[in-house]
Amino acid sequence: MKYTELIIKAKRNSSEIVQAVLLEAGFDSMQIDDPLDAVDIAEHRDVYKYDYINEEISRAAEEAGSADDTITATLYFTDDEEGQSRLTEAVSLLSGMDGVSLVTEETGDDSEWLYKWQEHFRPTKVGERIVVKPGWEDYEPAEGELVIEMDPGMAFGSGLHETTSMCIKALEKDLGDGSERSYDPSRYPIKVLDVGTGTGILAMAAVLLGADEALGIDIDDEAVRVAGENIAKNGLEGRISIRHGNLMDGIDYRPDIIVANLMADLVIMLSPAAASQLAPGGIYITSGILDIKEESVKKAIEDAGFDIIEVLADGEWRAITASRR
Ligand code: SAH
Repeated sequence: MKYTELIIKAKRNSSEIVQAVLLEAGFDSMQIDDPLDAVDIAEHRDVYKYDYINEEISRAAEEAGSADDTITATLYFTDDEEGQSRLTEAVSLLSGMDGVSLVTEETGDDSEWLYKWQEHFRPTKVGERIVVKPGWEDYEPAEGELVIEMDPGMAFGSGLHETTSMCIKALEKDLGDGSERSYDPSRYPIKVLDVGTGTGILAMAAVLLGADEALGIDIDDEAVRVAGENIAKNGLEGRISIRHGNLMDGIDYRPDIIVANLMADLVIMLSPAAASQLAPGGIYITSGILDIKEESVKKAIEDAGFDIIEVLADGEWRAITASRR
């Protein structure tokens, strides 16, 4: 579906009035961009919500250093009659207000984003053995390679993010023939719990690498849906289930390996529950951890009852593997 964006620019001192007028008329969903927020975010990079701060925000913050006091509010209107009449209403409410400028723009939707993303997604080797490929590309695996076919939709996790590939590399060390950290065979069959499964990629990699079954959990409905589709596409329905949930709340799965590519503070929160579900020797792989958080996450993992086995690094990202004491 197409949308019309109404972009409202107002000076800081009139922006509250603009928001109040809009709210009063029932326009309660808008995106506010305040350059000072970007400065604030960039300066509080250690706050967990912003672990995934991107260059764009940093750049916006730098630009805002020039003390821009223009605040932008964006409203979206659907392309149908109702949307367009609401748009007219919003425009007439705001036009003529002091220090306020209005721009409308036609905009595409998610499918446009998906299309852009598709241009960049080629079969990609993640780790030693796993190759991730989109459905529309043919790929002939070399000997020993395992292929995951994936159309990520809007969910995070094409397998191309550093944190994802480090988790796959860690899984490769624990699973499958010739795995580096050889697994106690009396513990087979192996069950893997993937917390924050996204597209389901880590659950799928685990099963392809030799786990017997996996359970993926995600808090995001879209991720749950996309993960289910990807698992079916790869013919792994019988071995992987996906559930909607918050971290490990209410989960009694008793896995041998837990993999959680979340972010530092969520990993810290998750660690006691992970410890309670893993038997001694059980493996806990975590990522989404920025370098500056490495020490605090390691400490939380150790305090929960694990020994750290290995820390993988890729740029500013870390993945920590630990073993249950
Ligand atoms: N495992 C995938 C996706 C990682 S992105 C990969 O490695 O590529 C992190 C995922 O965790 C997102 O899909 C997000 O929806 C999910 N998530 C975030 N907070 C969560 C929570 N509290 N409980 C469960 N899942 C969560």
